[in-house]
Amino acid sequence: MTVKTIQVAKSALSANQEIAEQNRAMLDRAGVTAVNLMASPGAGKTSLIERTVRELKGELRIGMINSDTSDAAMDAERGERAGAFSIHLNTTGRCHLDAGMIRDAIACMPLEEIDVLFIENIGNLVCPASWKLGTHSSVLIASTPEGDDKPYKYPRMYSGVDALVVNKIDLLPYTNFDLNYFTRGVEALNPGLSTFPLSCRSGEGLTRWLHWILSMSVREYIYGRAEQMV
Ligand code: MG
Ligand code: ZN
Repeated sequence: MTVKTIQVAKSALSANQEIAEQNRAMLDRAGVTAVNLMASPGAGKTSLIERTVRELKGELRIGMINSDTSDAAMDAERGERAGAFSIHLNTTGRCHLDAGMIRDAIACMPLEEIDVLFIENIGNLVCPASWKLGTHSSVLIASTPEGDDKPYKYPRMYSGVDALVVNKIDLLPYTNFDLNYFTRGVEALNPGLSTFPLSCRSGEGLTRWLHWILSMSVREYIYGRAEQMV
């Protein structure tokens, strides 16, 4: 007598987790440190990548996967003009990246020629937090014109990241953004979170961010290689 087995489909999120782990292994083998950059639309994801590429040219070889919900590739072109190896990922309306999209994108990249890979997620403060991509760190960019209440309204996004950039601090005098209120909200969700107040436009505060990227890249390089040797 044969017993019929019915396989229950894995949840989309657990299937995503498996692909994310494969992505991470592939990035580690190639010695690439990957950063998942998340933010609302207009916070400065592309600007931060562009500025970082220009400032670290000669020290790091940087790749960029730029995603948008359409075929508008102007942001990927900005990265390319700055000196990054860039790919534009058109999600055809989907509101977040998943690990499968990143697997397809990194298959098109010369990973051996890249030290740091920035993945510009879709501008959205909700679902990107739930979808792991296989990156080494997740960074959230907030910006002063968005308002200081975002940690209170989007707690999952703030609690799940490894670093926070507060962009457009040059506009602080022209907004009602209360840095103390904002920081209290962040601290309650993610105590001790590495935070980088800066302005991509004026360059103010950028040095600490650049050092963080450099030190993360070096750390991943040393420990990544050490793990492979064991
Ligand atoms: Mg952009
Ligand atoms: Zn989504």
